[in-house]
Amino acid sequence: MGYNVAIDGPAGAGKSTIAKRVAKEKGYIYVDTGAMYRALAVYFLDKKINPENLDAIAAACEGAEVKIQYEQGEQQVYLNGENITSRLRNEEVGNMASKVSAVPEVRAHLLNLQKLARTQDVVMDGRDIGTCVLPEADVKIFLTASVETRALRRYKELEEKGVSCDLEEIKKDIKERDERDCTRKIAPLRQAEDAVLIDSSDMTIEEVVKAITDNIV
Ligand code: C5P
Repeated sequence: MGYNVAIDGPAGAGKSTIAKRVAKEKGYIYVDTGAMYRALAVYFLDKKINPENLDAIAAACEGAEVKIQYEQGEQQVYLNGENITSRLRNEEVGNMASKVSAVPEVRAHLLNLQKLARTQDVVMDGRDIGTCVLPEADVKIFLTASVETRALRRYKELEEKGVSCDLEEIKKDIKERDERDCTRKIAPLRQAEDAVLIDSSDMTIEEVVKAITDNIV
């Protein structure tokens, strides 16, 4: 068993930025479980499967083999042998991932892959890491921020990439994702009882990283 750090929280709370930094500082591996859901979303989008058609989604899971690999310290995601890392971070994929992640077969399909990481010193982020994937994690963090802060961060990130976007649209999107992630029947987003709550709305990245590493003993 390795040293396990679980970081959960809503969309746009900065989990991946923070988790990556913490992992680097401690020399642990970083596992981004959202990327796994996004990989399945790419598969369903390519197959043009309607996310409302739960039976079709459940049946299609078996055909999607997701693999995570580390190349030059960066996580690479493979779907049926093809590196799809560059396709993961767009709104269409994020929305599809958020919808299909409520399907039990989708979660079961990825759970084993996620649990495999337990044996390593790992920082893993997602929605249900402290509650379902690594319930015995050594450190559990629930990282959140106000909807306004999360939307503004996302807006700036997209602007920097040269993608035109609308702040109100992003806010609406984030609220919808929060609602879906928190109210689904299986593995909903919630703070584990033994998780440390960090609201990063008025914190710098360095402050959040320190607040987390201070808990790693
Ligand atoms: O964190 P990220 O935005 O990449 O995750 C994409 C979607 O995957 C989330 O909106 C959430 O619905 C789902 N997800 C999940 N459980 C996880 C990680 C992500 O349900 N552990």
